Amino acid sequence: MTTVRINRKLRWPSQFCCYCLAASMFVPAAALSGVNPRVVPDIPGVIRHGPRNTRELALTFDACSSRGRGKLDTAVARVLLQTRTPATIFLGGKWAKDVARALRPLVSDSLIEFGNHAYMHPHLMRLSGDSIAQEIGKAQRVITGVIGKKPVLFRAPYGEVDERVAAVAESLGLIVIQYDLPSGDPDSLISEQAIVRYVSSMARGGSIIVMHVNTRGWHTAEALPEIIANLRKKGYSFVTVSRLIARRKLPGRASLR
Ligand SMILES: [Zn+2]
Repeated sequence: MTTVRINRKLRWPSQFCCYCLAASMFVPAAALSGVNPRVVPDIPGVIRHGPRNTRELALTFDACSSRGRGKLDTAVARVLLQTRTPATIFLGGKWAKDVARALRPLVSDSLIEFGNHAYMHPHLMRLSGDSIAQEIGKAQRVITGVIGKKPVLFRAPYGEVDERVAAVAESLGLIVIQYDLPSGDPDSLISEQAIVRYVSSMARGGSIIVMHVNTRGWHTAEALPEIIANLRKKGYSFVTVSRLIARRKLPGRASLR
């Protein structure tokens, strides 16, 4: 594992997005040990999973903005629509602007819900409160223009959220959503079959799974049909995050309008 870690550090610094290096590097170890990694710390008001006493799961996809022009992984979009799988996509504001036209089939299908993933995918915990509000607020305005309604969910870039970031998001009326099951899809060293095995075996009732739809996932589209089929066979059904958390008491000003 040490060698793999070193290789990843050398090969990957510019390509990691959304969940931090540590979270992604947990995946192979966890797959071997069968231990579910604790990928993000518990922050009050931040939701990492839904109720455990259900057979519902949420598939989520991050669409992180980058300096270059954003790109939609159309193969992933096709799998979701063809298998009629509800999902929640967290849109970077700049990314949403770049791919507004390509997003239309997803926007026009009620299976898919959209959340806010900040405008330029910054490390929000390093910013002032005002800058955090500007990043999230700008994304909110742009995404509302692209999808025709105001997002109510927010996921922090790199999964980096503390009480200050969460408070700013909540003050803007957003519910902060993390995840409890990172798929490992931004890691080129994790094969399609490893992703399928890992996600299929680690998912529990209420899990919030995270993958990528901005072409940062290497095997996302190939792994996805088998993951969906395996989990449905186990009796799970996929729902949007809003539906998964619908019965939960929400923090601050947040509400599922
Ligand atoms: Zn991201």
